[in-house]
Amino acid sequence: MELIVVGAGPGDPELVTLKAIKALERADVILYDNLANKVLLDYRKESCELVYVGKTPYKKYNSQDEINALIKHYADRFEVLVRLKGGDPFVFGRGMEELAFAKSYGMKTSYIPGITSMLGIGLSGIPLTHRGISEGFWVITGTKKDGSLSKDIQLALQSKTTLVIYMGMKNLPFIVEEAVKFGKPNIPAAIIQNASLPNMKMAKGTVVQLPELVKTHGLTHPAIIVIGDVVELAEG
Ligand code: SAH
Repeated sequence: MELIVVGAGPGDPELVTLKAIKALERADVILYDNLANKVLLDYRKESCELVYVGKTPYKKYNSQDEINALIKHYADRFEVLVRLKGGDPFVFGRGMEELAFAKSYGMKTSYIPGITSMLGIGLSGIPLTHRGISEGFWVITGTKKDGSLSKDIQLALQSKTTLVIYMGMKNLPFIVEEAVKFGKPNIPAAIIQNASLPNMKMAKGTVVQLPELVKTHGLTHPAIIVIGDVVELAEG
């Protein structure tokens, strides 16, 4: 019994590791998320079973307990289980929870890193750091387990580095509120939806303009919010 937690990358199926492909080829069963590109499933062997364990944000599709139960169910029936997760499994992906569960069930476990979706935003022309402009970046969730905003966003807004927010669309008005509170209403900001995919969309402006940009550009999930002067480097 083996569980391999595999990062599927940001969306473009070519942005996946060779190691991930080899794991997909070995899998007896693949449990995959809605953010993992389905094209990657084509690497499976003929006898491999596919199980969709999609999680739509803000709706509870499959709770972690249910996913653990699924891992147990398939571990009893198959040798090699691959858990394919969008981006990197350890970046807001709960990969560690699944590995811990599998370990406690006596399974052999391994993890294959993936390109996290934040790295896909470079494809829209925004670098996360740039000499003389940003000396680093904060990566924070916009939605904590209880739905509220992380206090770390306040800390990040007081620094000069780039702020990257995952899962921030629902709390966007509160993020804007925080930026205003910390005297940065006009700081450059962008939202990138479907980074690395053919339907990638990007809108940029100042942080207070973001809610309006969401409406005019019809931006929805999955999207990443980037706040900081690096946004100005993007063309258009
Ligand atoms: N483990 C994933 C993140 C899962 S949390 C990773 O490493 O990328 C889900 C959040 O990821 C979404 O709310 C969104 O903020 C972000 N996301 C995932 N794929 C994306 C994409 N292609 N474009 C923009 N944001 C994406």
